Formats: sequence, structure tokens, C-alpha cells
Amino acid sequence: MEGSANERLDFGKMGYGCKHYRRRCKVRAPCCNEIYPCRHCHNEATSMLSNPFDRHELVRYDVKQVVCSVCDTEQPVAQVCTNCGVNMGEYFCEVCKFYDDDTEKGHFHCNDCGICRVGGRDKFFHCKKCASCYAVGLRDNHLCVENSMRHHCPICYEYLFDSLKDTTVMKCGHTMHCECYEEMIKRDKYCCPICSKSVIDMSGTWKRIDEEIEAIVMPEDYRYRKCLACNCTTCILEEYIKTAKW
Ligand SMILES: [Zn+2]
Ligand SMILES: [Zn+2]
Ligand SMILES: [Zn+2]
Ligand SMILES: [Zn+2]
Ligand SMILES: [Zn+2]
Ligand SMILES: [Zn+2]
Ligand SMILES: [Zn+2]
Ligand SMILES: [Zn+2]
Repeated sequence: MEGSANERLDFGKMGYGCKHYRRRCKVRAPCCNEIYPCRHCHNEATSMLSNPFDRHELVRYDVKQVVCSVCDTEQPVAQVCTNCGVNMGEYFCEVCKFYDDDTEKGHFHCNDCGICRVGGRDKFFHCKKCASCYAVGLRDNHLCVENSMRHHCPICYEYLFDSLKDTTVMKCGHTMHCECYEEMIKRDKYCCPICSKSVIDMSGTWKRIDEEIEAIVMPEDYRYRKCLACNCTTCILEEYIKTAKW
């Protein structure tokens, strides 16, 4: 019996969704009363509206109704569809009204951030001063900048705190997208765009990280090796300093 109940819950898993998430429901946006596959789909669509006064962002916590993608029934936010009995998301957060079938991402809700993040709860810690979750490799190993993540990326101006892209923490404690950082290095700019401090001499940080994380000690020669793809010394370090994406 139990087997068939689980089968029902799993029905259609990974078969529905948008380019942002695999999920078996759509959300009714409380702001404009329209139905969208997800919050980001809503924001992308509304940011392109011709009248600037119509442009707006969906507040995730305000979502009240969802539409099951399997049976098309609109209903209050919950994990299981009241009509057809499927999980509308294998991962479900009641606070964020968030659904995702792709549990490989390692979702977790951080109470301090107030949002869901990905990458595995055990791989991140919440830095109270920076007011964001950072990779455990950064614990006691980064310069705290108050509300460091509550800013826009200095390169592309996207808000970093709940950006879906990977974010990197520079030596100075300032943050930007990993891909924007790489782009900046490719253009031979080695200074933080916010405070102009150098971002490239990371040898001290390397050492400290190596001492603290036994599990991922890098061999001596590897430490100073250049990345083959872009001939820089920073790519390998990026592995360590990535923060959560969500
Ligand atoms: Zn809206
Ligand atoms: Zn979407
Ligand atoms: Zn349903
Ligand atoms: Zn959440
Ligand atoms: Zn957090
Ligand atoms: Zn911090
Ligand atoms: Zn950026
Ligand atoms: Zn800086």
C-alpha cells in the first residue's frame, strides 16, 4: 500500500517546470493576479513591460494560490495537490512558498537569511555580520562587511542576496558574481570595483584555508598552478570561495 502512495506522490516528478526550476505547479502572483511557472519567470516578464509603472517584482512570501501542473487544479499553497495527490515539489518550503523537484541541488531554508538556498545545509554557515550564508571554507576566514550580500553586483547590477548565480567573496570582503569576477579578471582588472583593493594576491588566504580544511588540502605545486582555461591563478581558488546560490 505504502509503495503505491509514494508512487502517486512521485508521479510526474522532474517532468514539469520552467528554465529556473523543476516543479509540478505554477504560482498565482498575488501582485497582478496572473499565473507564472515561478517567481523569476514573473519578474522577467514584468520587468519588460513597456510602462515602467507596471514593472514590479513578486514577493515570494505573499503567494497564496498555486495551480497543479498535473491536474490543473488551483488551490492554496501546500506540498501535495489536494485533487490528484502528487507532490507539487519534492522540496517544499512553506515559508518561501517554494517548490523544486530537483533535490540534487541540496535546498535548505536559512532562518537568518529568511530564504531558501541550495548547496547543502552542511556546506554553509550563516555569517551574522555579512547577513548571508557563506561556504564553510569562509568561516573565520573572510573579512566581514556588514550586509555584504545585500548589494547589487558591481559589474552587472543584479541584486546579489537572492541571485541564482554563484557569488564570490573577494579578499576585501566585498562580493560579486563569480562570472562577473572572471570576466573582470579576463579584462586584466585585478581590483575590487567597490574599494579598489587588489583581489589577486591570495597566497595568505590559500595558506589559511589549507590549514583549516584538512579534507581539501591542495598539493603544494597545485596551489600556484595557473588555470589552463584562462591562464589565471584565481579559478582554482574560486572552488573554495563560492557562496550559496539559490
Ligand atoms: Zn505581479
Ligand atoms: Zn521560471
Ligand atoms: Zn493535481
Ligand atoms: Zn524557504
Ligand atoms: Zn543564511
Ligand atoms: Zn562575514
Ligand atoms: Zn554580476
Ligand atoms: Zn572591495
